[in-house]
Amino acid sequence: MSLIIELDADGPQVRGQAPERAAPAPPKPANEGHGDMRKKIVPVVKPAAGPSASAWEGGAYVSMQQWLDGEPEGGAILLQPGDDVRALDGRIGNAALISVDFHRINDGRGYSHAFLLRNRLKYRGRLRALGAVTADQVYAMARVGFDSFALRADQKAEVALSALESFSTPYQGAVVAGDAAARRDANARARVRLLERSLTEIAARHERPALASSLSAEDMVVTDVIARLGLPIDVFTLDTGRLHEETLALIAQTEKRYGITLAVHRPDDEAVQEFVARYGRDGFYEGLPQRKACCFVRKVLPLGRALEGRDAWITGQRREQALSRGALAEAEQDAERGIAKYNPLAEWSWADVLAYAGQYDIPMSALYARGYVSIGCAPCTKAIRPGEDPRNGRWWWENQDGKECGLHTNTVAR
Ligand code: SF4
Repeated sequence: MSLIIELDADGPQVRGQAPERAAPAPPKPANEGHGDMRKKIVPVVKPAAGPSASAWEGGAYVSMQQWLDGEPEGGAILLQPGDDVRALDGRIGNAALISVDFHRINDGRGYSHAFLLRNRLKYRGRLRALGAVTADQVYAMARVGFDSFALRADQKAEVALSALESFSTPYQGAVVAGDAAARRDANARARVRLLERSLTEIAARHERPALASSLSAEDMVVTDVIARLGLPIDVFTLDTGRLHEETLALIAQTEKRYGITLAVHRPDDEAVQEFVARYGRDGFYEGLPQRKACCFVRKVLPLGRALEGRDAWITGQRREQALSRGALAEAEQDAERGIAKYNPLAEWSWADVLAYAGQYDIPMSALYARGYVSIGCAPCTKAIRPGEDPRNGRWWWENQDGKECGLHTNTVAR
């Protein structure tokens, strides 16, 4: 039996023992000593020749077809990536264990099997990942419903345990039917841990990353994590010259609360004067081109200056904020500037943001208490009624699908 990490009510447990490790093979010269050594060697990943295991702790596995042919009481099924799991619908109540064989690292079909079993087929029994399972994948696997992992002989349980350490409760909450409030709490904790981990990784990966903060609640969440963990990520904001007093007041509050300095970037006076001379100070109400021109002068150009010399920037964008953000990726490439761009809150809901704000008591704009949900420049932002679409609070005189200021264009998911 291999080394198995199981998630049960007491957290992650290590069971079984690691099989003997094979002696390491002597190092081979790259390219086997042939050809041009400067050429990059692209490893060929061959699919496994057969199943990664034939037995579990209770006996021999059966294949999905064998199970469908006989449905042995208390047996264990070993699913292969190509199996059509839907065939098991209504026929898995007796299974003592279902294992999914990952032939390759990150084989998406194994994740799909788990998702289908848990969500469509409502399978609540034991679900194990085995084969090419890496220790640092266990978190993602647990999120889709796996509750145990068979590690390979060359893997260390400690690495998998440390990946799981912060997340053990959420796993159980997600996998085992239980108390809804406890599950919500657990998911909230997991969300914060993920955000912390994501920002920590960004700080480690880049030389000069920065958060572009509009001082919105979302950006305050990210600022709070950066400050709480002492991460080397700068925070800057754009003072467009048309911000609410409440927003400007938040700059000082933020600096005082966290002991950090926010770099404030302002528009170029000459460019603003040119816009005003051409369209009028509030010319942005006249049409989309005028509005975009104003945003360009007051936001886009200063953003460009703020990002000069940086290798990554971070935003507080969320998918549900706008139709145009529905497919927002957490990691993008800013093609225009050739730098990385991260949206670590992409998946968060407004309720998630408020929950964090309450738990960590972060400074928030006084405008939220007056019905604002999206805060930008004063003339282009308004309060909304309870239940009203949050997008109505910005540029309300425009079509829903054009509501972007130009700060977040020309990016591709990575
Ligand atoms: S949000 Fe309104 S005032 Fe602010 S830069 Fe854009 S158009 Fe101008």
